[in-house]
Amino acid sequence: VTPEIVTSVADLRERLDAARSESRRLGFVPTMGALHEGHASLIRRARGECGHVVVSIFVNPLQFDRPDDLARYPRSLERDAAVCERLGVDTIFAPVLEEMYPRPQVCTVDVGPLADHLCGRFRPGHFRGVATVVLKLFQMVGPDIAYFGDKDAQQLAIVRRVVSDFSVPVVIVGVATVREADGLALSSRNARLSPEERAVAPRLYRLLQEVRRRIESGVRDAADATGQAVAAVPGAGRLEYLDVVDPETMHPVATVAGPVIVAGALWVGSTRLIDNVRCTPPA
Ligand code: AMP
Repeated sequence: VTPEIVTSVADLRERLDAARSESRRLGFVPTMGALHEGHASLIRRARGECGHVVVSIFVNPLQFDRPDDLARYPRSLERDAAVCERLGVDTIFAPVLEEMYPRPQVCTVDVGPLADHLCGRFRPGHFRGVATVVLKLFQMVGPDIAYFGDKDAQQLAIVRRVVSDFSVPVVIVGVATVREADGLALSSRNARLSPEERAVAPRLYRLLQEVRRRIESGVRDAADATGQAVAAVPGAGRLEYLDVVDPETMHPVATVAGPVIVAGALWVGSTRLIDNVRCTPPA
């Protein structure tokens, strides 16, 4: 079956009310489009667990901190619709800007200290924009389960907390990061990399793995675990941050005493790549 492409909130609600009245479990995968195998993994998981799968495709200006990043963000609705069809998606929600923001967004979600570190520190307002659009989308879709990638660990932690703090009746599922054969995490922004930049890009994941190995071999001092790795960063990329953080608060830990997330951001040319790994110190 061809997925229905819905562009208005009213049509979306009507269609999803019908699905709900057939007591179909509603699965939701929010995206910004330019769909790749990472998105496909979320959609497959939703397809396996839910009776009706909704994918939203909306490039949210509210979460972009740099105008050039928004202008250069890849858009490919026709291709995306074909991908969704192949994966058995029931509904594609693809609103235009005016549908999503008919009036200026005066009220927004303040994510507090969850945005103090990692991407939040370097992208002012980014997670306010993410949390705001996700809460809006949850109100529009009313999903039973929503799927997010581990790739964006800080985003996932923030979505979980928004849902908890605002009592949103939805279950949040995190899905493992899908990678290229050389370890590079799939991202819509990878399409912008030149062949030379593409060759440098996998070093971010290698760096994270190196820190993980050190932690798993018993290095408990976070600065020790990251220090040597950072010194080895090649000149071709500029490391924005590399931090060992608590999986819930997203605040750096000085001493590793339990499960942590090692997260990094690497600039390759004018493209910013992020990635993270989870690791647990030896007992
Ligand atoms: P985006 O379209 O980049 O906003 O991503 C939409 C969703 O797909 C988010 O929940 C991302 O975390 C997730 N995602 C993006 N890339 C990957 C990946 N390589 N593996 C798994 N999930 C991903």
